[in-house]
Amino acid sequence: DRAVEALTRLVRDVPDFPEPGVLFKDITPLLADAAGFSAVVEGLAAAGRDASGATRVDKVLGMEARGFILAAPVALSLGVGFVPVRKAGKLPHDTHSVAYALEYGEAVLELHQDAVAPGERVLVVDDVLATGGTARATHDLVTACGATTASFAFLMELGFLDGRAALGDVPSTALLTV
Ligand code: 5GP
Repeated sequence: DRAVEALTRLVRDVPDFPEPGVLFKDITPLLADAAGFSAVVEGLAAAGRDASGATRVDKVLGMEARGFILAAPVALSLGVGFVPVRKAGKLPHDTHSVAYALEYGEAVLELHQDAVAPGERVLVVDDVLATGGTARATHDLVTACGATTASFAFLMELGFLDGRAALGDVPSTALLTV
């Protein structure tokens, strides 16, 4: 599979980033490789298609900041719009806001209230599923709009952190589990 091959070859492990003890998955070499970038975008987009290949979502959401880079080309591939989920205070119009716990402290994510319409089905895209806090908060923002998270799609899932448990029964795919 081209996406798995690209992830295996082009994602770099950086020890002790952003803090001691963390082994960070650096996707910048993957993004810089046209064939690899294209392969993973198509792999993620598959989560927004049905068995016949038809698009089955109305919007693609991406989380600041690496989620933006992936979700925008996925949205274009599926022929639907892209919606940014941002950190607190960045979106200019009326927002829904969800706070979630980090290892130390908390973070807030926001979504424009009119970015997703009630009843719409969205695909949520990010690079890495770790503890699941970011993905869970995004799902809660979608719910606040009266919309449905059809699926999550990640490049990589850090299996040992069991982030999937935070996602309830929403379908989730990862191109690679490490
Ligand atoms: P979680 O909320 O699941 O604990 O963390 C996921 C979020 O943190 C994602 O938005 C992801 O971009 C970022 N993240 C956590 N660990 C890594 C990592 O090792 N590499 C990259 N690229 N992002 C990470």
